[in-house]
Amino acid sequence: MIKHLTLAFLFISITLSAQLKSPAEFLGYEVGTEFSRHADVVRYFEHVAANSSMVTYDTYGKTNERRPLTYAVISTEQNIANIEQIRKDNLINAGLENGSASPQTAIVWLSYNVHGNEASSTEAAMSTLYTLITEKQAWLQNTVVIIDPCVNPDGRDRYANWYNQAKATPYNAKQAAYEHNEPWPGGRPNHYLFDLNRDWAWATQVETQQRLKIYNQWMPHIHVDFHEQGINEPYYFAPAAEPFHEIISPFQREFQTEVGKNHAKYFDAEGWLFFTRERFDLLYPSYGDTYPTFMGAIGMTYEQAGHGRAGLGINTDEGFELTLVDRVAHHTTTGLSTVEMGSKNAAKLNTEFKKFFQNDDLKYKSYVLKGHPDKLQALGELLDKHNIKYGIKSSGTVNGFNYSDHKNGSLTATNALVVSTNQPKGKMVKVLMEPDAVLTEPLTYDITAWSIPHAYGLEAVATTGLISTDKELSAYTVNNVASPNAAGYLVSWGSMYDAQFLAELLQEDIRVRFTEKDLKFGGKDFGKGSLVITKSDNRTNENFNNTIVEIANKHNRQLYASNTSFGDTRTDFGSPDVKLINKQRIAMLRGNGVSSLNYGAIWHFFEQQLHYPVTSIDTDDFRVSTLSSFDVLVMPNGWYSSLKDDTMNDLKTWIQRGGKIIAIGSAMNTFAGKDGFDLKSNKADEEKGVDQDDKKENKGNLTPYDQRERSSVKDLITGSIYKIKIDPSHPMAFGYGDAYYSLKLGSSSFSFLENGYNVGYIETPTSVSGFSGDDAKNKLTNSLVFGEARMGSGSIIYMVDDVLFRSFWENGKLFFVNSIFFVNNNKFTL
Ligand SMILES: [Zn+2]
Repeated sequence: MIKHLTLAFLFISITLSAQLKSPAEFLGYEVGTEFSRHADVVRYFEHVAANSSMVTYDTYGKTNERRPLTYAVISTEQNIANIEQIRKDNLINAGLENGSASPQTAIVWLSYNVHGNEASSTEAAMSTLYTLITEKQAWLQNTVVIIDPCVNPDGRDRYANWYNQAKATPYNAKQAAYEHNEPWPGGRPNHYLFDLNRDWAWATQVETQQRLKIYNQWMPHIHVDFHEQGINEPYYFAPAAEPFHEIISPFQREFQTEVGKNHAKYFDAEGWLFFTRERFDLLYPSYGDTYPTFMGAIGMTYEQAGHGRAGLGINTDEGFELTLVDRVAHHTTTGLSTVEMGSKNAAKLNTEFKKFFQNDDLKYKSYVLKGHPDKLQALGELLDKHNIKYGIKSSGTVNGFNYSDHKNGSLTATNALVVSTNQPKGKMVKVLMEPDAVLTEPLTYDITAWSIPHAYGLEAVATTGLISTDKELSAYTVNNVASPNAAGYLVSWGSMYDAQFLAELLQEDIRVRFTEKDLKFGGKDFGKGSLVITKSDNRTNENFNNTIVEIANKHNRQLYASNTSFGDTRTDFGSPDVKLINKQRIAMLRGNGVSSLNYGAIWHFFEQQLHYPVTSIDTDDFRVSTLSSFDVLVMPNGWYSSLKDDTMNDLKTWIQRGGKIIAIGSAMNTFAGKDGFDLKSNKADEEKGVDQDDKKENKGNLTPYDQRERSSVKDLITGSIYKIKIDPSHPMAFGYGDAYYSLKLGSSSFSFLENGYNVGYIETPTSVSGFSGDDAKNKLTNSLVFGEARMGSGSIIYMVDDVLFRSFWENGKLFFVNSIFFVNNNKFTL
């Protein structure tokens, strides 16, 4: 009987594979001779899964533009039949599930095309899939390969569709040709223009959120992120460059080198050039190589020459033609070589994987965080995305390293969130929570600080002893009821949930006030920024009481109903300091000159976080006259060369009549030194913070040739955290205290505003985490971080530090909301 079954299976499998087509047979062109549209790639994977019992293919989600996110699981027919057990055994091995298992199967995950316009890799995914099941079946005996053919389908199709429209026939290899010059914003990022290769740890994007669910179910031993770089670069593969994060194990380091040497064997045989170890470090936890590494895998980045410039073929500066066919061949080779290394080392990968999840020797055993319940809630949501366990400690005092003053101290742990390293994912806990990442080398190509307690605005201590918890974090739910006799309702102000509540009230045409003074009603205190929603303001709205209760319950906001407008202290509802909030009409600039990342972060913030409308206007179409129907203009990071003198005068007039500009980061340069804007860059100021040596006349630069790069680090700030002073009485800072930890992304520095309000500022620079070069740090002495300059009836708001950067610095977001709704709360009038 059994024999018959086997025969029957064999028969089916042979018949099916007879129909199995290569990518070229299926697509009608050789791989690399065209850019395939995402839908065609999906169809090919579906075809293979339908015709091979070695492949399953599933959808794990969809993108903002409704393209499917997919993954294929590839192994022998027997392994596929037993795949659920293989998956579970791996989690048991890591301690993530209970049970006993001694797995011997390697799990290799290949992620393609995270950057949309690095488009050779999705083509390579098809070749790799086909080669694995037709030629490399032997490796699959002890190996499961997971292929995500396209991590960023929206970005890839943005590029591929544009290229397919733009290309000459036959393609034109000259660099100057239109097909080699992608228009703004390019295909690299996702729909909201986020770089998905910076988003693994913060998971702000739908692609990441959905991928992590599958990733956590599998927890591969090897993860490869396929990329492309400039057209003149040789291929890059592991081992990676310093700095390595200190938790990376000796085995993880060594195995990268072994993988690299295996690739080198194939590349040398073909005469292909490559480099290793010189770029692409392993520190910042939000990459497709570091995140898997900190989750126990051998995480690697491979970079092929190509990118959005290369098209189907391009002449390089070195006199060769780089073709898509070559690019695909290289990525296919490294992908297959990686699987080979997984298969050859399957047993070792499993034993080392198990070891990685034992965390007894980590210095800090627990991180204890305390603060606004909304912020703890937001942190809990982040930890959930990574399946990191945590709990709540109701009371007691804990001693340890205190994040606020960076020395040992204690914390009263009332309803504090505790996340400990005595869990399988303890190393990731350390990476995300630790006060300061150890830097073996300051030259990294990304930020060097991201400490979660500061990012979430929480008080915290790290303890060397394990702290126990006594309950779970539970989402509080409120149950407000309508109070028809109330003169008004009060809601305190202090989190993004409050901001979402306000945004919905305004959209439902509820009239809302905010207070610039501290209020007291019925013995209860309401700080500056608290919302006041009065019966009087909403007297024409028959449904007022029911609507507000419904919206408050939806957002879990506690309403306090007061039967009188008469305050316990001297500020009543009718006070001039309790100001009506305008339903702001907001415009934002996009397009040439504007940072696509910053624009995208703001766009995402309005649509997906605040849920409030914003109108994007292209810089090429921008006329100041357009602003007559807007109250606020947001200018993301960028170079606004199109704002000439006459435009500038018109803009000034618009502000003076009550308009408001929010200028972020380098957008401030548009106004620095210009008459009436009260803004001065510290760049020209030679007196402050400049190396004494450099001030000597005619010294010249005697730094040797091979030390120039090293010497330049003194001018750098590579994403580090500074403690800044806040004026909490200014509306921009409502909901904050008198100190704030800001993520400083660069060394640009502006003087204090002479006439305006310096809301956030640095007197003596105090960096609490991350790398800052001495010169750059000194230049921050007496510098502006957040400010408001008044011009006539309007204002210009300056944000030197970008609080929406990658959308992960949760505690900065309210500065932006306050700037829109509270600061100089005028309605623009003609
Ligand atoms: Zn890339």
